[in-house]
Amino acid sequence: MIGYNAVQVFVAPQAVAGNWLRLQHKGTEMVAVVKADAYGHGLIPVAQALARVGARRFAVGTVAEGVMLREALPGAQIIALLGIQDVSDAVACRDYGIVPLVTHAGQWPLVRRAAAAAARPLAVILKFDTGMARLGFAWEAVAHVVEALRAAPMLRPVAVFSHLATADDPEAADFVAEQTMRLTAIQAALAAVGFSLPASLANSAALVAHPAAHFQWQRPGIALYGANPLAGTAWEDRCPPLISAMTVTAPILQVRDIAPGVSVSYGRTFRASRPMRIAIVAAGYADAYSRGLSAKAAMVVGGVRAPVLGRVCMQMTAVDVTHCPSVRPGDRAYLLGGPGEAAITADELAAWWGTIPYEVFCLLGMNPRTLV
Ligand SMILES: *Cc1c(COP(=O)(O)O)cnc(C)c1O
Repeated sequence: MIGYNAVQVFVAPQAVAGNWLRLQHKGTEMVAVVKADAYGHGLIPVAQALARVGARRFAVGTVAEGVMLREALPGAQIIALLGIQDVSDAVACRDYGIVPLVTHAGQWPLVRRAAAAAARPLAVILKFDTGMARLGFAWEAVAHVVEALRAAPMLRPVAVFSHLATADDPEAADFVAEQTMRLTAIQAALAAVGFSLPASLANSAALVAHPAAHFQWQRPGIALYGANPLAGTAWEDRCPPLISAMTVTAPILQVRDIAPGVSVSYGRTFRASRPMRIAIVAAGYADAYSRGLSAKAAMVVGGVRAPVLGRVCMQMTAVDVTHCPSVRPGDRAYLLGGPGEAAITADELAAWWGTIPYEVFCLLGMNPRTLV
């Protein structure tokens, strides 16, 4: 490699594996949600670390992600949450043993055709919409699904899924209960006509806060990556302590002393009111360090917090290092994580950013990554 990586992401797959072990509930199973490149942490190393501690079921988004994972984990169950879009998706599911969600009636011919060509059953998961109005059959449409399954004995349903809209909001527990009731009814109606299937509804928030929504398989995502899905709510303490798996740093390019009255960065939105030492960090919105963080975020430099001064630029951001005078060009600033008490949590960074840790991980995770 020539030169340095500006923004550098460090990922600890072991931390994800540790969180997996902490989140487990006796007598039920978990599907590890590793969609979107394991929330920006890196699909293959994360899935391999999870497999080493016993994970057997993995949920990706697209079939293409599933194909990538198959090579690394020949024996795992791989589920494509977004389902299939066309014949080539269906064929890939058959050839790579990926279990697609069937989410609407237009997909029956595709999965039937793929199964028929293989002359062996194709495993599928039935997805119902119980209140998210995103993917899935209407929750009243069980009869239609049963009819389609009966007409296609080459399809082997292996589970029934639905997804919660409000699991991370203690104020909206009644809607979780309603969705739980609907999935319970769907599961019972399927069982009554001979399709006895494990059901799955719980994401991370429901896994830690809504035992009634656990069913047989849970699908944790964000909690595996160390973020408390109930952070900042009255139910924050329901989540066991988790370890964050991602740290993000960038090098300091220049350090300078500025006098009172000097303005920093575009638009002169920050003006020093006292003598200050500032550092210019090689991270900006081109590295997914959002311009929305201007004048809001902080980094960690030399073990202490260094507030962002003025506007975040395309590849640079100025921070206040007055309280850390020994800083030199070449030292690294932490954008996420960092040593000890000063560490920046995903929740904090997300709050400054006006978003959620999910987006922080996915976006920063697109920078070059190193495993630790
Ligand atoms: C992303 C996703 C999950 C995981 O949700 P978290 O909130 O990250 O735990 C579970 N199920 C489905 C269908 C998803 O899309």
